[in-house]
Amino acid sequence: LVSRENHAERSVVRVGGVPIGPGTMTLIAGPCAVETPEQTLGAAQMAQAAGATLLRGGAFKPRTSPYAFQGLGEAGLRILADVRAETGMPIVTEVVDAGDVELVASYADMLQIGTRNAQNFALLQAAGESGKPVMLKRGMNGTVEEWLMAAEYVAQRGNLDIVLCERGIRTFETATRNTLDISAVPVAQRLSHLPVIVDPSHSGGSRDLVLPLTRAGIAVGADGVIIDVHPHPETALCDGPQALVDGDLRELAKLVRDLPPLV
Ligand code: PEP
Repeated sequence: LVSRENHAERSVVRVGGVPIGPGTMTLIAGPCAVETPEQTLGAAQMAQAAGATLLRGGAFKPRTSPYAFQGLGEAGLRILADVRAETGMPIVTEVVDAGDVELVASYADMLQIGTRNAQNFALLQAAGESGKPVMLKRGMNGTVEEWLMAAEYVAQRGNLDIVLCERGIRTFETATRNTLDISAVPVAQRLSHLPVIVDPSHSGGSRDLVLPLTRAGIAVGADGVIIDVHPHPETALCDGPQALVDGDLRELAKLVRDLPPLV
């Protein structure tokens, strides 16, 4: 279903009216985690000023440590919905458990499935039945084939509104959190008709890598980027060191504004 074999044209997925796919370079940005109404609105306004048309933000956070901030849950979803009402930005937010899909889908414009759940087949199937577009991150240890088969689980349930997200894979290299596999972008676009975006924030894990990796993603033809921003990253409850602040955002805005016309 997601293969290009029976679907020669590349697809455009619409999220609350915002297109992701060929001919666009969609900027999705917002806080890694929803913490407070002020922090989420502040991040959304920064993102919007930089040209972002979709708001990201996690209310359910899949953290490596059970002692780390796990997200606000439904209270976080309510904050996202309020910020959408204020800014007009449709929401992309993660769901980590099949049992929460209905709840998250009742607030979200797009469901995000994270790298740690890339082969959680029950979750993929539930997302496929949610009626909402799905952003499917590549498993940090997953091959492109496994990623596309995960997308197939969503598609099999009647949902072809899927966006693939390359977010870095585990390699021997420890200088970056993960290695952004930029070659996976054209490979996935050759094998699948689905849009492919990159996440330079979670792959590099560091603010100074976000712009260079964004440029790399654009250069290889990514259909969009998803980026963490935070009004006060020094106090962030999750992934502060990778969040962009105002100065970086001005550069990001320029980068997106000056893009040549995409075909
Ligand atoms: C995220 O985008 O909030 C996230 C946790 O990403 P990943 O699943 O890629 O680690």
